[in-house]
Amino acid sequence: MTKCFECDETCEIKKYKAFKYTGVSLDNIVLANVEVEVCRGCKTETPLLRNLKKLHNAIGVAIALQNAKLSSADLRFLRRIAGLKVQEWSKRISVAGAHYARLESGDRKISAQVETLARVNFLNALKQQDPENVQLARHLETVLNLTPASETDFVIVINAENPEAPAKYLPDDSAILKEPSASYVEAKTLPFEPLANVRIVPRHSSIYHANVNQELAPCA
Ligand SMILES: [Zn+2]
Repeated sequence: MTKCFECDETCEIKKYKAFKYTGVSLDNIVLANVEVEVCRGCKTETPLLRNLKKLHNAIGVAIALQNAKLSSADLRFLRRIAGLKVQEWSKRISVAGAHYARLESGDRKISAQVETLARVNFLNALKQQDPENVQLARHLETVLNLTPASETDFVIVINAENPEAPAKYLPDDSAILKEPSASYVEAKTLPFEPLANVRIVPRHSSIYHANVNQELAPCA
């Protein structure tokens, strides 16, 4: 039985059909079929995630394939998951570094060309890490044929049990997120550093804490 690290009460593990994932700096990510540790005392909810790298890669792929314009947060997320610093990444997408910083901060509009190059370069970066992955080659083709619609409100649903399964894009008022049987809750687990409170749980091993910021820190 794990103890809550907010209040020291014991926690129980519940399986949620849908859980808003705030472990990354995006506000439209929902994890389906995810185990969540719920504190009996303060009700803090902590998703139990087995392979964070796989999950974050899958979120990146879902963003790269989304048939909607990239937000500045999306752009930043793709770069960070690709593991590149602003300087190197902006070079790859043919934008001057100073201008690029404004795209990530939302001060400038992201052009269609930058969008495509960001999606392609993100997938290429994953391909470098995993050259045998044929799925990525298919994704690249998809990206080149996308004509992203502008402003739409949707959530990206990733199956936590199988992050590599195709993501679902649902309207943010979709029934699955409201169904009484589905626990759709705002994660209230991040009072401090974003990403700091996510636990990585390797299969067949006891639960331990990990500071996810460390994983992403080198390319901040
Ligand atoms: Zn607690």
